[in-house]
Amino acid sequence: MPELPEVETIKEDLRELVVGSKVEEAQVLASALVEQPSAEELVRRLQGTEIIEARRRAKHLVIDLDSGDALVLQLKIGGQLLLVPPVEEPATALMLVLRLDGDRSLFLRDETGFTRVRLLEAEGLEERFAGLGPEPLSDEFRSGYLRQKLGGRRAGIKGLLLDQKVVSGIGNIYVDEALFDARIHPTRKANTLTEGEWTRLQSAVKENLAAGIEHRGTTFSLYRDVLGRRGHHQEHLKVFVQAGKPCPGGCGGKVVRKKVGGRATFLCPACQPENGLGEEVGLELELRP
Ligand SMILES: [Zn+2]
Repeated sequence: MPELPEVETIKEDLRELVVGSKVEEAQVLASALVEQPSAEELVRRLQGTEIIEARRRAKHLVIDLDSGDALVLQLKIGGQLLLVPPVEEPATALMLVLRLDGDRSLFLRDETGFTRVRLLEAEGLEERFAGLGPEPLSDEFRSGYLRQKLGGRRAGIKGLLLDQKVVSGIGNIYVDEALFDARIHPTRKANTLTEGEWTRLQSAVKENLAAGIEHRGTTFSLYRDVLGRRGHHQEHLKVFVQAGKPCPGGCGGKVVRKKVGGRATFLCPACQPENGLGEEVGLELELRP
């Protein structure tokens, strides 16, 4: 499922390649796609508009139109937004086609069929995003934020980090990577984390998301950028889907897969012990590259 780095990559592609284009025609090809308004109204309100900006909020992609409307996409699991040409016209799993000026089109396709869109006015957009936590790569995610927000909670740290009301845009891949870097077991209760662990976790969240963006996202099978290219971050993953491989922390142990809150979770049991490492190891870890 596209998380912050994947949606950010698509947003940057749209800014470079699509902003400034006019939508000459819109076709909805999957009735389940449009959550708001009706499919007919969405088509009517899209046609003849100009795309003036592309933005990201959490895992949502926002395409602003000169009419004042915003097309909000949730690319769930298999959602792809492809620019044709240069991408060859896809024939299957189509959900929405926007015919642009200059003989180009944007194809939204999703083999899993879970992608959803909404067309919202400014007010509706504000309401939709009102409950979301801060963007982890913004100044709002200030030092000490996670400890202040979660330090009193008894729930497991992984589940709390996946809550979009706490922090925006993190999903299963980047949360496991960040918890490994911070040497924190995913089921640790938040109220047992030490000051040093909170500091490491806060930096690890930022560093892993920034690395994901730098590598243009993680592609296991379905994620593509607007030009149909795969991301590269899967080549840099430390624990996520690495079960059985040697721990990259150099402990001599192996990465294991567990279920945490119903989700596949990857960790090194030696580097991320269930009861914590204690404070003395913390300082050494701050020095990792
Ligand atoms: Zn290890």
